[in-house]
Amino acid sequence: MFISHLHTDHWGDLAALWAGGWTAGRTGPLRVWGPNAQTEDFGTAFAVEHFLLAYNWDKKSREATLANAPGQIEVTEFDYRGENEVVYQVNGVTIRSWPAIHIADGAVSFALEWNGLTFVFSGDTGPNKWFIKHAKVADLVVHESFFTPTQFVELYGRDPGATVNVTTVLHTSPQAFGKIMSEVRPRHAIAYHVFNDEETRYGVYEGIREVYDGPLSLATDLMVWTVTRDGVTERMAVATEEAWSVPGPRKPPAGKPGQVPPQITDWINAGKWDVRDVEAEMVGGFMKKYDIKPPKKN
Ligand SMILES: [Zn+2]
Ligand SMILES: [Zn+2]
Repeated sequence: MFISHLHTDHWGDLAALWAGGWTAGRTGPLRVWGPNAQTEDFGTAFAVEHFLLAYNWDKKSREATLANAPGQIEVTEFDYRGENEVVYQVNGVTIRSWPAIHIADGAVSFALEWNGLTFVFSGDTGPNKWFIKHAKVADLVVHESFFTPTQFVELYGRDPGATVNVTTVLHTSPQAFGKIMSEVRPRHAIAYHVFNDEETRYGVYEGIREVYDGPLSLATDLMVWTVTRDGVTERMAVATEEAWSVPGPRKPPAGKPGQVPPQITDWINAGKWDVRDVEAEMVGGFMKKYDIKPPKKN
């Protein structure tokens, strides 16, 4: 997981990815890359360390029944001031970062290069010279485009006084997005970071089109791009939420139940209601099918 900055809308789903991946068979620790900041307490390592402390009940209770290694998170914190510095290089994939300008030091943009193709992701940022310089060779460029100031006030109920700063300095306006893409000239430009709904999308689109006439998409969930040397193809993925996870090529390490004792007291256990009579046939059949020996009485 690569974190551009530590706003909730950019890493708030870590809990589901971390714990869900653990129970669904991740084979080792979750690995996170993210920037440091001016002070330690604004950095990615601090955030993840305290995230795990906040989820202490979750982590410790799962460790009683699951292999412990995939419940760890390994953080690689890199210098947010690195200008197009390599932060990851494995199997022909190179990821670089450069600074973004977004409210506090410690926000970055990323470029991913593989097989002669380059993908760039801005994270959240106001227009900046680093992006123009380092995104220029990219095939696919995803950059934020914010709401128009009028939308921010009329649809979002925000104070008009602060709106121009938020929509043009802390973030990138549609017109500024258009200017950036006119300069970078990617094979395909993608605007993200707006609610892409009927009420919002046209104002954003028209603002971009005042300035930029190249290939453009306004991102929405499940939009997929296939990038080859010949071109960029856009499709919508069809997905169901009613599906189990699919086993990966490697097996997760076996859990060692009992390695960490369940943290449950006799006082709580005394409240158990014995319903084993109604389960006996179902449990017996299961144990026979998988050749499981009855547990020792405790
Ligand atoms: Zn942000
Ligand atoms: Zn954001």
